[in-house]
Amino acid sequence: IWRQTFILQESPVLLYIQPKLKLRMEFGSRRVRKNRRIEIETSYPNALQLYTTPPSGNISLQEFDEMAIERLKVLRTVERLNLSGQIKNSEDWMNKLYEDFSKHKYFIHSAEKISDNKRDEVEAARRRDHVSHFVLRLAYCRSEELRRWFIVQETDLFRARFLHCSTNGSDIKNFLVSNNLHFTPISKEEVHNQRDNLIAGTYKINSGDMMEGRTFFKVPFTEALELVRQRKVYLSGGYAYVPDTDLVTLVTASFRSNLSRALAITNKALPQLEDDERLTRLLHDFDKRYTGNSYSQKKSGDGLHITPDMIDELSTKSFPLCMRQLNDTLRTAHHLRYGGRLTYGLFLKAAGLSLEDALYFWRSHFLKNMDVDKFEKQYAYNIRYNYGKEGKRVDFTPYSCLKIIMTSIGPGDAHGCPFKHNDQTMLRQRLVSFKVPQQAVNEIIELVSMSHYQVACQRYWEATHNACLDAGINHPNQFFEESQKILNGQTQPSQGKRTMHVKTNRSVMYSSQSSTQSTQETTQSTQETTQSTQESTQSTQDSTQPTQASTQDCGNTSDYDSMIFDDDLDSVMIGQSMESEDA
Ligand code: SF4
Repeated sequence: IWRQTFILQESPVLLYIQPKLKLRMEFGSRRVRKNRRIEIETSYPNALQLYTTPPSGNISLQEFDEMAIERLKVLRTVERLNLSGQIKNSEDWMNKLYEDFSKHKYFIHSAEKISDNKRDEVEAARRRDHVSHFVLRLAYCRSEELRRWFIVQETDLFRARFLHCSTNGSDIKNFLVSNNLHFTPISKEEVHNQRDNLIAGTYKINSGDMMEGRTFFKVPFTEALELVRQRKVYLSGGYAYVPDTDLVTLVTASFRSNLSRALAITNKALPQLEDDERLTRLLHDFDKRYTGNSYSQKKSGDGLHITPDMIDELSTKSFPLCMRQLNDTLRTAHHLRYGGRLTYGLFLKAAGLSLEDALYFWRSHFLKNMDVDKFEKQYAYNIRYNYGKEGKRVDFTPYSCLKIIMTSIGPGDAHGCPFKHNDQTMLRQRLVSFKVPQQAVNEIIELVSMSHYQVACQRYWEATHNACLDAGINHPNQFFEESQKILNGQTQPSQGKRTMHVKTNRSVMYSSQSSTQSTQETTQSTQETTQSTQESTQSTQDSTQPTQASTQDCGNTSDYDSMIFDDDLDSVMIGQSMESEDA
C-alpha cells in the first residue's frame, strides 16, 4: 500500500496529449491533482523553489521545448563557470553567473525580482523556472551519468540563487517555512555550555565576540557532510553544530537529496512516457542539444572576411588543431577525402570565405592532381551545395566540436579532433613542433588521457594566445573567432584563474561543449566520388608558430576536492535512491 500510494502521489510522468499539439501535464490521483492545481496556479510566493510539486496546466510543445532549452543553457552556464576555474560561490563567480543570466535575459533574472510592479513578469519567470526544471528531470533521469550531471548543476544553481536571494532582500525565512525546512536553533544554555568547543570547532569563529548574535543549529552530521569534510563545524555525539552563516549548506543538502530521490522515482516511471513519440523525440538525446552559436551564414559587416591567400597564415595563428591538420594535409596531398572537405569547407565558409573564393581555393589545390573537367564535375557541385546554391539550397552550419569528436575516422582520413583521434605520441610531437611550451604540452596530454578533449583544446588555445579563455571551446569557429579577437586587439586577454584538474564525466564534457547539430543536420550531397589514390597522408611539415607561445600561469585553484566530494556524494545518493525504489 505504501508503495502504491507513494508512486501515485509522486510519479510526475502522466502526460495527456490534447488536440492541437497541446500538452497537459497531470500528476497523481485526481483529488491530489486538483488540490495541487489550485495551489500551483495561485502564485509563486518565493523566488526560490524546492520543486517538490510537479507543475500542472496547459503548455504547447513549442513552449515545452523552449523552456527546456533555456534551462539547459542556464545549467551549462553554471557548468562552464565551474570548469573555468573560478572558485565556486566566490564573489567573482557569483558576479559572472548573474552577469550572464542578465545578459541573456534568462528567467532567473526576472524570477528573483522583488518589485510588486512587475508581478506578472515575475510570476511568468517563476513558472518557467518550475516547468523547465521538471522537463529536464524527464530528460536527465535516464542514466546515472545524466542524473549525476543534472544534480551537480542544479545544486550549484540552487546554492548560488539562495546566496543571491539572501543578499538582495528576498524573504528566505518565508521560503524555509513554506518548504518545511525547520532547523531548530540550540538553546542559549547549550550555547553557553558548548561555548569553548564552538569557538574551537567552528570555521571563522575565533573568539567569544564573534559568537555574539550567532545562532547555531544542531543537526545530524549526515545533513552537513560538506561542512564536516571541510572541518568547518563542531561535532559531538553524531550531531553537527552549524552556524547560521552556513545555513545554505543545510538547505542545499536537503535540495540535493530531494532531487536525487525524485530523479530515481522519475526514472522508474519513465516507461509511461515512451508511448508518445512527440515527447520522446523532444527528450531524446536532450543532453547533446547544441545551445551555442550556430555559425551559419556570415552576416555582412560582422568584420570577419577571409580570402584564400590568408588561409595558410591564419591556420598557423588562429585555426584550431583540427582545421590546421586539414589545411596541412591539403597543402601536402592537394586533396581531402569527403569528410575532410565537408568539415573544412563549412568551417571556412563560417570563417568568412565567400563562395567564389572557396571555389578558387579548392581548385588551386585540386588541379595539381586532376584536370579542370574532373574538378568541375566531381567537386565544384559540393562546394556550391555547402553554400546553399545547389540541391536543397540550405545554408549548412559548420560542425561543432562534439560532432567532430563523435565522428568515426577511417585510415587516411584527416578530419576529426586531433585530441580525440590522434595517437598521443603523434599529438605530443605536433604540439612540440608548434612550439607549445613543454608544461602546457604535458597538461594537454594529461587532459587528453582523461578524455577531456575540449578542455585540452582550450588549454592549447590559452598556451598559444597567452591568455585565459573563460568561455571554453565548443566550436572550431568559436576557437577561430576568439583568436582573431585577441590578435586584432578587439578584446584584452583575460587573466582569469584556470583549473588544471578538471573532474568531469562524459555527460559533463559533452554537454558543456555542446552537441549534435541542432537544426539543419547537414545532409550532404550523395554525389560522393571515388577517392583519389593520393589520400591524405598526415602532414608533418609543421610551420613555425607565429604567436609566441608562452606559459600563462592562470593560477591553480580551487575546489577540485569539493567537486570530487560532490560527485562521490551524488553517486552514493543516486545509488541509495535507486535501491530504495527497487526495494
Ligand atoms: Fe577542433 Fe573542437 Fe577538437 Fe578543438 S576540441 S581540435 S576545436 S574539434
